[in-house]
Amino acid sequence: MKIDILTLFPDMFKGFKEESIIKKAIDNKKVDINAINFRDFAKNKHKKVDDTPYGGGAGMVLMCQPIFDAVEKIKTEKSKVILLSPQGKKYDQKMAYDLSKEEHLIMICGHYEGFDERIKSICDCEISIGDYVLTGGEIPAMVLCDSITRLIPGVIEEESHLKDSFNDDLLDYPTYTKPRNYKGMEVPEVLLSGDHKKIDEWRCEKRLKVTKEKRPDLFKKKMKLEKNGVKEHNKIYIDDIKNIKVKKIKEVIETGEYKLIKNDDIKAITILDAKKITGYKLKNKKSDGHVNRLLIVKPSFAKAVVLKNARKKINMLKYKFNMLLDSDDDTDSSVLGEAEMLKSFIITAYARYLGQESLDMIIKNINMIVNEFVKNKSLRNTLKSSNKEQITSRSR
Ligand code: SAM
Repeated sequence: MKIDILTLFPDMFKGFKEESIIKKAIDNKKVDINAINFRDFAKNKHKKVDDTPYGGGAGMVLMCQPIFDAVEKIKTEKSKVILLSPQGKKYDQKMAYDLSKEEHLIMICGHYEGFDERIKSICDCEISIGDYVLTGGEIPAMVLCDSITRLIPGVIEEESHLKDSFNDDLLDYPTYTKPRNYKGMEVPEVLLSGDHKKIDEWRCEKRLKVTKEKRPDLFKKKMKLEKNGVKEHNKIYIDDIKNIKVKKIKEVIETGEYKLIKNDDIKAITILDAKKITGYKLKNKKSDGHVNRLLIVKPSFAKAVVLKNARKKINMLKYKFNMLLDSDDDTDSSVLGEAEMLKSFIITAYARYLGQESLDMIIKNINMIVNEFVKNKSLRNTLKSSNKEQITSRSR
């Protein structure tokens, strides 16, 4: 990926480019970051780039000509031009992901009072890094460059950003390192158990808990997503297999035809450009889309992914049941309905990858959780009503 930053202060980017992961990414040719002084494009005698605002008022405004000419010179068909502005769309991890797939980004850094409004006509989008005003767009440009670069394949381990905060609308789980005991503070026992299933469950539960406490807005969004028909997330998470890209699980389900492979020497996942495949009829099950990429998945790998996803969904269900047990809310029906929906979802979407034995095990597991919940809930209700009776008889 290439990132060109149009700025009046290119030296600000020197240190940024010369340290840590960004430096490594540049050295490994994963990204090419250039800070370009748009003053060099000014056509007037004194290389002036700003002027006073029409209509009066404080500050200086960046003029159109140097920026228009700079963009025209460096822009190609594949460029995306970003204007950094406090009035732009608020930047988030999803935008970072989307931008990390672009080939060429041009970022325009404003300064002083801002820029001539007409500069917006040559930009594809306006981005703000938050609801505050900085003196210039250089720090926002660095924020974008940093968050985008770490998502470029091969810059950091994919596993590491898959689990970062905001993925899947959840914050990250707590992490610990040596020593086991520091000033009396112990590392949670489960992390030392070596039982990866239990560790996964613990982390999943912590992610939900931390998100609920610190970012109730995200938590609400997540719960709503889950409620709306056990909606499938369009990402799959792989912990134990290296060098795998995040792909849409839908693609696995709709086009994951292992038999299409001519070459046996494939990795767990192979992605093919559908246009390059001849001799096969590629049909999408959905009428509204067409297949442009084909994801070929080894059955063993698909099973592992699907099992992992099913486990995550079951953990989420368990968590909801536990929350209902802890609260005074008596509306169990919607979450019981979700359990039914989860079962039918697993049967329709996952069964073909699981095999009968694993499928039975998952369904049995969900039934067990539901039964346990119903049992605990009725026990709790009995206790509640007997407490009430005691209080009423005492007050008589
Ligand atoms: N008068 C402008 C306004 O209130 O919208 C603010 C101009 S600011 C002092 C100068 C430049 O810094 C902006 O043109 C923009 O490029 C950059 N900038 C400041 N805050 C920003 C933010 N939160 N996100 C992105 N860019 C920002």
